Amino acid sequence: MMSEVTIAKTGTPGALPDENVLGFGTHFTDHMFEMDYNPQAGWHNPRIVPYHDFSVNPANTTLHYGQGVFEGMKAFRTKDDRIVLFRPLEHLRRLNRSADILCIPQFDVDVVHNALHKLIALDQKWVPAKQGTSLYIRPFIFATDPYLGLRVAENYKLAIILSPVGAYYATGFTPVKIRVEDKYVRAVPGGLGEAKTLANYAASLRAAVDAKKVGYAQTLWLDGVERKYIEEVGAMNIFFKINGELITPALTGSILSGITRKSVLEIARDWGLKATERRITIDEVYAAHSQGQLEEVFGSGTAAVISPVGELSWQNNKIIINDNKTGELAQKLYDYVTGLQYGAVADKFGWVEEVAKS
Ligand SMILES: *Cc1c(COP(=O)(O)O)cnc(C)c1O
Repeated sequence: MMSEVTIAKTGTPGALPDENVLGFGTHFTDHMFEMDYNPQAGWHNPRIVPYHDFSVNPANTTLHYGQGVFEGMKAFRTKDDRIVLFRPLEHLRRLNRSADILCIPQFDVDVVHNALHKLIALDQKWVPAKQGTSLYIRPFIFATDPYLGLRVAENYKLAIILSPVGAYYATGFTPVKIRVEDKYVRAVPGGLGEAKTLANYAASLRAAVDAKKVGYAQTLWLDGVERKYIEEVGAMNIFFKINGELITPALTGSILSGITRKSVLEIARDWGLKATERRITIDEVYAAHSQGQLEEVFGSGTAAVISPVGELSWQNNKIIINDNKTGELAQKLYDYVTGLQYGAVADKFGWVEEVAKS
C-alpha cells in the first residue's frame, strides 16, 4: 500500500467562525482527509484535500444498510499556544475495532495517525483559542458499493473532517436530568453495542425524543435482556459513587468502551480510590440512594468530559443526587482531564500528543 499522504491545498480558504458562537458540528475547516479501499488495492491513496461534498450513488450500500463506523475526538489549543490531541491512537484503534464488528477491512493506524497530524497542522488556525473550545475530529468509514443486494460491501471510504466547537459548559457545570429508559433498548449482547456504528444512534432517537418531551435531556439505557442492569447514556458512559467507591458498568458487549471512561478509571485508581467495573442494577442505585449512600452520578465522554447527573427518573420514581449539585469527585476529574487537555496539568500518563505545527 502506498502510505505517504499527499496534500492538495484549497485555493479558497474559508473565513474563521466567531469563537463565541461556535456551537457543535456546524463549521468545517478548509481541508479533510480521505482514503479508499477496494479488494485489489486495499486501503490506498491517502490524501488531504479541500473540504468537499461527496457524490453518492442512490444505491450506496451505507444509505440502505448502514455499514458505517465513526469516531469522535478532539484537538485543543493550550494556554502556551501548542496544539494537542488526547489519546488519538486509542480512538483510531477503537475505529478499527468498530470496523471489524461491521465487517469493514482494517486500516493501518499509523498511516491515518500520521495523516491526522498533517491535517491538523495544515488547518491549525481553525483550532479555537477561547476557554473550553476545541477542534472536534470526526473520522468515519462507510461502504461505497453501488449495489442493492444485502452483503458485506467491497469498497469503502475512510474520511476525517474537522469542526471547531464551542465550550460544552458555556455557562458552567449544570447537572443534567436523565430518564432511565424502560420501554426501548439500545443494544444487546451479541449485537452492535460495543461498536461506534450508525445503527446504535438510530436506535436511540425515539427514546431521546420521548424523554425530551417530559423534560429529560438524556436517556440512561438498561440492558436489553433483563432490563435491570445499567448500561450507559446516549453517548456517554456512566459512573456512580456509592459509599466512597466509584462504580461503572462492566463492558459486557453491549456498551461502548469509552476512552474517557478508561481515563477516569485510571485516574481514580491513581488517586487511590476504589474504582470498580461490574454489573450494577438500577435497583441497587435506588437502594443506595434511599440509604443515603449514593454520593455522585456522572457521565463520561469526549464531548462533555464529565457530565454530572442531578436527577434520575425511573418508572416515574425520581431521585435527586447530591442536592442537584456537581459532586466533588466529578469536579476534580473534570478539572484534571481538561487540565491535561489544555496543558495546565503535567501529562504523567503520556496521554497528550503535540501536533508539530511545521
Ligand atoms: C462515543 C461514545 C461514548 C464515549 O466514548 P469516549 O471515548 O469517552 O468519547 C460512550 N457511549 C457511546 C454510546 C458513545 O458513542
